[in-house]
Amino acid sequence: MADNTDTAIVIVAAGRGTRAGGDVPKQWRPVAGKTVLARTVAAFAGFGRVVLVLHPDDMIGGLSEFGGTVTLVAGGASRTESVRNALETLDMNTVSRVLIHDGARPFVSPELIQRVLSALAHAPAAAPALPVSDALWRGQDGHVSGTMDRDGLFRAQTPQGFHLREIVAAYRGHAGDAHDDVAIARARGLDVVIVEGDEENFKLTWPKDFLRAERMLAGDMDVRTGNGYDVHAFTDGDHVTLCGIEIPHSRALLGHSDADVGMHALTDAIYGALAEGDIGRHFPPTDPRWKGAASRIFLSHAADLARQKGYRLTNADVTLVCERPKIGPHALAMARELARIATVDPERISVKATTSEQLGFTGREEGIAALATVTLVRS
Ligand code: MG
Repeated sequence: MADNTDTAIVIVAAGRGTRAGGDVPKQWRPVAGKTVLARTVAAFAGFGRVVLVLHPDDMIGGLSEFGGTVTLVAGGASRTESVRNALETLDMNTVSRVLIHDGARPFVSPELIQRVLSALAHAPAAAPALPVSDALWRGQDGHVSGTMDRDGLFRAQTPQGFHLREIVAAYRGHAGDAHDDVAIARARGLDVVIVEGDEENFKLTWPKDFLRAERMLAGDMDVRTGNGYDVHAFTDGDHVTLCGIEIPHSRALLGHSDADVGMHALTDAIYGALAEGDIGRHFPPTDPRWKGAASRIFLSHAADLARQKGYRLTNADVTLVCERPKIGPHALAMARELARIATVDPERISVKATTSEQLGFTGREEGIAALATVTLVRS
């Protein structure tokens, strides 16, 4: 889409709407693990430079969420003022067309965006809409007080697209507020082409809209599990390190690093869920850099890799198999330490232990084995 460098996308998200419930404005509420606004911004990737209009109180939050990927502009007292502020930041020498979009419409499709852009090749303004299909009534006090003809009526959506010079001139010539940008364009006499809207491009307004959004995204959810298994032999020593916790013991574990068998199993489980091999692939034992390296480096790398690929670690379960030392008294501290290293909620990590009834190598206390299972979710 190299020919979209002349396109700016103004996303208006300065409102304080709380009709949707919750204690933060709706555009900042998460849907399936990602804020509405992050989803809306992502929907325009590749279509042009995004200018995000935020409430002045949200500028710092916006900077931390979007960094340098978008231009942030402080909104005004009304939507009209907010759009005006954003338009005045655009350089008419380099930007020739602008799409103005509601921050609370995260489900806008690339096809719809393209329909608006294509229409701008032949008209100064274009906007998506859907014909009204239900009968229309007037109502008062819970009773029908009249009926309306729905012929020729449309439900307006965004993005509304304009030739930049035309809409800037329209805004400069318009005093006061307006229903939307199309109203301001028409007040200046601009021809506005209607392109086909999309039922899924709805505006999140009410609590039930958020339930609908969650349901829509549930279909896209990618849920992965991974398992890890590791064994380390005992050797001479006076302590073992298990899941990041040092425990005094009459023996130590033999290994290339700190021999943290539990953390290794968990790390391998994360790599496994990502189909990214195992610790040995990312930290080759032949590389002197990793000689004696603390195992938390491995776990934190695996957890970061999962995040980079868009996954959340939703739970992990680690089982240590040994006769001694006794794990029970340390299990909670271990779970907390794993959670701290992987930067996840401690309640999502479980560490437990079992003996093998004195059978096999763990029963003979020749070493310790560990198993781990993780679930990663991307939505
Ligand atoms: Mg190991």
